[in-house]
Amino acid sequence: MIFKDNILSGQVAVVTGGGTGIGKGIALEFAKVGADVVVASRKMENLEKVASEIRALGRRSLAIQTDVRNTEQVDEMVKRTVSEFGKLDILVNNAAGNFRVPAEELSINGWLAVVNIVLNGTFYCSRAAAKVMIPLKRGKIINITSTAPWTGAAGTVHSASAKAGVWTMTKTLAIEWAKYGITVNDIAPGPTETEGAKGALWSEPGAYERIKEGIPLKRFGSVEEIAWAAVFLASEAANFITGATLVVDGGAWIAGRRY
Ligand code: NAP
Repeated sequence: MIFKDNILSGQVAVVTGGGTGIGKGIALEFAKVGADVVVASRKMENLEKVASEIRALGRRSLAIQTDVRNTEQVDEMVKRTVSEFGKLDILVNNAAGNFRVPAEELSINGWLAVVNIVLNGTFYCSRAAAKVMIPLKRGKIINITSTAPWTGAAGTVHSASAKAGVWTMTKTLAIEWAKYGITVNDIAPGPTETEGAKGALWSEPGAYERIKEGIPLKRFGSVEEIAWAAVFLASEAANFITGATLVVDGGAWIAGRRY
């Protein structure tokens, strides 16, 4: 834990894809600084483990099986959060899918699966959360994007295109929902050490070292380093920040790095 105070004390957060990787890191770092956290995705086994870790930190937690592509399940996720914890202050749209394939070989099913999770899922969750946040006139929505909206990402046209949509959604909802006291921002991580990304993106021999060499700080990020950016954006320290993208990538994008 890098933050000294309980800066999210009393806050209730939902983290989609909170059972693994960056989402798990965000859920745990949120809990360490005082938040009660709901973790939601498809695999209950992963979610239950994270929820137990959160409870061991002295916070309340709930694992809710949710496919973010399913609007009924998304609405139920928000409903259960509110019935259990009384409110919803923070939503982190982190759930995603990705795999490398040349664009001309990408099946329509593959395209739709990724776009549905990343772009549609982010909107469904944001919309459901906003309905709870609007009457309270407060809320923080944080989307996990990537630097692909500016750089492109050869081999992952489905994910890169969907992330660009989320990037634009972030800006649009920030403007629309500012009148309700809801801020909407996104974090664009660079290469970050997770099992999911390793399997999907840099499993080819030599890929890890090649990517690392292209990062000015000469290393991959950790899930905690992405989570600390989320803690900041979820906290009162970021109350005047909305529609912003926080790039956390060791300088890779600014150095013109492509993956
Ligand atoms: P990850 O561990 O594979 O996380 C993806 C999460 O999404 C999983 O927990 C998965 O859980 C969940 N998920 C997938 N489909 C879902 C669905 N239909 N409904 C609900 N949840 C679903 O990968 P990660 O590296 O931590 O990635 C997390 C986020 O960071 C993603 O948005 C990714 O695009 C972004 N990102 C990562 C990197 C990186 O280098 N790691 C770089 C840039 C951006 P279930 O299988 O249980 O559903």
